Amino acid sequence: MKILVLNAGSSSLKFQLFAMPDLSVLASGMLEKIGEENGLATLSYIEKSGSRKKYELARPISDHRSGVQLMTELLQEKNVLIDVNELAGVGHRVVHGGEDFKKPVIVTDVVMDALKALIPLAPLHNPANITGIEASMRMVPGVPQVAVFDTAFHQSIPEHAYLYGLPYELYEKYRVRRYGFHGTSYSYVSRKAAEYLNCPPNELKSICLHLGNGASIAAIDCGKCVDTSMGLTPLEGLVMGTRSGDLDPAILFYLARETGMDLTDLDTLLNKKSGLKGICDNNDMRSIGRLAANGDLRAQLAIEIFCYRIKKYVGAYLAVLGSADCLVFTGGIGENDTNVRNKCLQGMEKLGISLDPQKNSCVTDNVLEIQGDGSSCKILVIPTNEELEIASQTLNLIA
Ligand code: ADP
Repeated sequence: MKILVLNAGSSSLKFQLFAMPDLSVLASGMLEKIGEENGLATLSYIEKSGSRKKYELARPISDHRSGVQLMTELLQEKNVLIDVNELAGVGHRVVHGGEDFKKPVIVTDVVMDALKALIPLAPLHNPANITGIEASMRMVPGVPQVAVFDTAFHQSIPEHAYLYGLPYELYEKYRVRRYGFHGTSYSYVSRKAAEYLNCPPNELKSICLHLGNGASIAAIDCGKCVDTSMGLTPLEGLVMGTRSGDLDPAILFYLARETGMDLTDLDTLLNKKSGLKGICDNNDMRSIGRLAANGDLRAQLAIEIFCYRIKKYVGAYLAVLGSADCLVFTGGIGENDTNVRNKCLQGMEKLGISLDPQKNSCVTDNVLEIQGDGSSCKILVIPTNEELEIASQTLNLIA
């Protein structure tokens, strides 16, 4: 039997097919530009002979429903899925589970209604996730569909850390509170860190940094998240590719008054035109690194600001936890950018955190341990694998 994992975006659908019970990857792929004229399907799969093959198909994909159908046809055509009845379950990434979902659930009509009720909290993400679930339910009726939530891992955050300094009734009436995101990634890397350090997860104090286009940080005490930098939405916290992260809320009133920007303009400003992009007109850390190395002052400044914000949060979460056994870097930047890792931890030796520059510059597909000799806190680089985590949570639930 097999497990399929779907991650539906507004115009894309990422998928991965896993063999049970070892969860080895049989195929992975992506459908892009759904709803546009120039749709593209890419598939990477393992043939019966064991060799890896790649396949691409350019053709319009009208909606998620025909996307799921096309994905199934491709998997069948390449003989990685002989029959849809081989599927024991389909795991879906769902970005926002609000307070209703503290762990993965099998999707029922009641769950679907609850997911729809959460749309106002994640208007960009949840509708696409729901569309993916509906398309998959039609394609493989009777196969358990499992919703795995990005917010679930953070549901252990205590009230004093998830509430804002706002009138309490805004929490009661409108559910305004910190939810946190990247939970599937944190669940995966924090468990991997515990395994690597040979420590029971419920005894480990860790600070995990997921640094990708979206970036956040989480304080995890004895396996349970106690605080994280993203809030009601994924806009709060660290400086990101195109998102501002933390700022003085009064900046918005000031800009509205001075420039005449309306709510939509401000939303676009903070989510799409800020962060690294706003500072140096580039949101790709690889290019920014190259520009900075060639003397581009704005690129250098963007890296400084990005790293300084991370450093402030690491300090804050050290205070929250009292101490940390390990610090984990993950995400495209966290896994690959040695300069960022080095810069954001500089000058923290007296707090028990120091990097070994040589170890920091090593590359591995697996866990990399990079702390210096005097560091009481282990520093690990762990490639995240959200799809595998969703497959594993799906398997646990349906088993
Ligand atoms: P997403 O949040 O979209 O999943 P990723 O985790 O893929 O993003 O991270 C994307 C970011 O990682 C980009 O800023 C990209 O430039 C950066 N990145 C990827 N590889 C490297 C690398 N080798 N060195 C530095 N940055 C990298």
